[in-house]
Amino acid sequence: MNKISEEMIALGSTRSVIRELFEFGKVRAAQVGAENVFDFSIGNPSVPPPAIVTETALDLLQNSDPVALHGYTSAQGDASVRAAIAGDLTARFGMAYSADELYLTVGAAAALCCAFKALTCPGDEFVVLAPYFPEYKVFIESVGAKMTVVPAQPADFQIDFDALDRVIGPNTKGVVVNSPNNPSGVVYSPETCKKLADLLRAKSAQFGHTVWLISDEPYREIVYGNTQVSWLPSLYRDTLVCYSYSKSLSLPGERLGYVLVPSASPDAERLYAAVAGAGRALGYVCAPSLFQRIAAKCVGCTADLTVYAKNRALLLEAFAAYGYPCVAPEGAFYLFPRTLEEDDLAFCERAKEFDLLLVPGSGFGCPGHMRISYCVPTERILRSLPAFEKLAKRYH
Ligand code: PLP
Repeated sequence: MNKISEEMIALGSTRSVIRELFEFGKVRAAQVGAENVFDFSIGNPSVPPPAIVTETALDLLQNSDPVALHGYTSAQGDASVRAAIAGDLTARFGMAYSADELYLTVGAAAALCCAFKALTCPGDEFVVLAPYFPEYKVFIESVGAKMTVVPAQPADFQIDFDALDRVIGPNTKGVVVNSPNNPSGVVYSPETCKKLADLLRAKSAQFGHTVWLISDEPYREIVYGNTQVSWLPSLYRDTLVCYSYSKSLSLPGERLGYVLVPSASPDAERLYAAVAGAGRALGYVCAPSLFQRIAAKCVGCTADLTVYAKNRALLLEAFAAYGYPCVAPEGAFYLFPRTLEEDDLAFCERAKEFDLLLVPGSGFGCPGHMRISYCVPTERILRSLPAFEKLAKRYH
């Protein structure tokens, strides 16, 4: 047998829990009918992109030079596209941005990988806050850094600052935050964000080097009521924003996002070069050309998010009635209730007996919980409620 990277074999052959559930769902659908399987496992947007996406795509395909349209763009993304996005950020967040601060990427996943690779030097660590997106571990470790976890604060899923204070050490290169959060749906309050910025400033001063803030924001626009998502670069200078159009425009398969590199940082020029270098080393070449141009025309737009609001309200009401303790979060399209037994893996196995496909919280660094992705047709929610009720009755 030839030698092949064992690390990559392990990564490529372990099916994620979500994938397992997906396969299970397919088998059950064949047995009991797809309408009787309640799959809440995958965070794939269930609403179509806004009409402007299709209109712009058609217009570009029919009326622009196909050679340029399908050609490579510059590695950091087309300059006019970056200018359009920078203009939108300037208008929305009251800070002046230019095209030169943006590096377009193949979704938030690539934005994060570029950010981690750009920053990482031997011995570096990144802190993540539970519950966290499980791919962080893969991204961070694949650039040779170490991931350190701050345990969750399940009462409200804001930040446990005592724990964060203890975990940030001299090797901490950055702290990763994700608000609105996958899997909890929670949006960090303005107080949490301000406290975080103050702590990072204090830690940077204590250790004599910047502790960067990596803000992973694919759900920025998916919020309910009057919720405001704090703009972290206005609170903490050394913030890299990693953004994605996957969720806001319902375009996860088209792979577009960006890194916003903080130009006010004394290291800005070198950092931007390092992000570009990381994109090059990782072989991204450039973000998809057609969807760069589409995004430029869609600044400020989102898919119709009303179905998520409706689904969220239905589930929260039902969970309160059936006795699933659940923080009522203000964003994303996930709920993260407590499981009705401590062992979340056992609980989610039992849920399968009712054809409910729920993701155990352990994979997000937060046992005793389950993630419910409610980016599904409302009809599925309504049909699933008796199953949730029966499952709860097993415990109460
Ligand atoms: N970060 C979080 C928290 C996510 O939930 C996801 C996708 O679900 C990503 C990053 C990756 O998003 P993208 O599709 O833009 O790569």
